[in-house]
Amino acid sequence: MSIYVDNGATTKLSSKALSAMLPFFQEEYGNPSSLHSVGQRANEALTDARTRIAKVLNCDPKEIIFTSGGSEADNQAIRSAAMLGARKGKKHIISTAFEHHAVLHTLDKLKKQGYEITLLDVHEHGLVTAEQVRKAIREDTCLVTVMYANNEIGTIQPIEEIGAVCREKGVLFHTDAVQAVGHLKVDVQEQNIDMLSLSAHKFHGPKGIGVLYARKGILLEPLIEGGAQERGRRAGTENIPAIVGMAAALEEAVDGIEEKQLKLKGLRQKLIAGLSKIPHSVLNGDQNQRLPGNVHFCFEGIEGESLLLLLDDKGICASSGSACTSGSLDPSHVLLAIGRPHEIAHGSLRLSLSDENTEEEVDYIIEAVTDVVAYLRSISPVWRDLQAGIQDYIIK
Ligand SMILES: *Cc1c(COP(=O)(O)O)cnc(C)c1O
Repeated sequence: MSIYVDNGATTKLSSKALSAMLPFFQEEYGNPSSLHSVGQRANEALTDARTRIAKVLNCDPKEIIFTSGGSEADNQAIRSAAMLGARKGKKHIISTAFEHHAVLHTLDKLKKQGYEITLLDVHEHGLVTAEQVRKAIREDTCLVTVMYANNEIGTIQPIEEIGAVCREKGVLFHTDAVQAVGHLKVDVQEQNIDMLSLSAHKFHGPKGIGVLYARKGILLEPLIEGGAQERGRRAGTENIPAIVGMAAALEEAVDGIEEKQLKLKGLRQKLIAGLSKIPHSVLNGDQNQRLPGNVHFCFEGIEGESLLLLLDDKGICASSGSACTSGSLDPSHVLLAIGRPHEIAHGSLRLSLSDENTEEEVDYIIEAVTDVVAYLRSISPVWRDLQAGIQDYIIK
């Protein structure tokens, strides 16, 4: 038996996306830049995918740039806005303390190049407000970049309001919507978004493909120089099978999105209720303002890594937070950003559901996590000290 509840790390390719992709490996293998009919058929597939993705986001197909995924889209959006800002003498960027590393590490680089970065506090519930953004905007601010939904604790930011503040102040607004696209409503017009990053493998599409949406008139800085693909904004022969698969997966993900959200929220609340019964446990991130399929807990007195390994033995594939921080000994920057102390941040568990998960699986997970946490505590010296009153509990 295998229960996959690590959909925040990646998702299974949908059957529809797979069958959409298959012809483009052997039958329709043309290069869209070729002038002959084989190439032109590939070009038509490219145009068709671009049009369909643009429709879902509610933008013009010309505003879609295909990238190798979310990380590249984040890098390109932020670097482009920084370059545009520098030309006007504006070198201040606003973001949050719990962004994905694709954003934070790009900002670190810019800081070394003389940009000033303000990282907004996300508070205990993992939320920023448009008011915080308004207060942080200065004369020399060239970009606000705030993620739509956090990849570890799943909290959803008020991006429409943040976008409105940015419009009013004439500052570019980028959102890393990698966890949101295909799971939450996205409409770049209505939500006042200038630039948006998405990645296909987070909504049952293939890995290694994503999109940067950039509103008309925003001059993008290419990260890869070469041919004239993507109107000179991203060189390299287009990954047609992946692009076609992404379009199919996106349409499937947004079809009936409200019912899927309801189902997921039901499973999520059941999991939260079940795991909350474990003594000295705490839910991370706001109860309600979170992704429909995200559950994230800290358990006092245990190590998240051991918890994951023992859960894997019981057939449960979960995560301690993000795929990017696991394997390193540093606690998650997201948990530190919401004020969890180091000792607690190490005992974390993220369960990210898909609509393939069932009630029975949720029941099994609750039982397994309860048992494994109890077992790990029974052999934990930290837990012994807490029980003996030598140390005080942090999670009451
Ligand atoms: C997964 C993820 C990324 C990176 O996307 P890739 O396609 O894997 O490069 C960026 N931001 C967030 C919020 C993510 O969850």
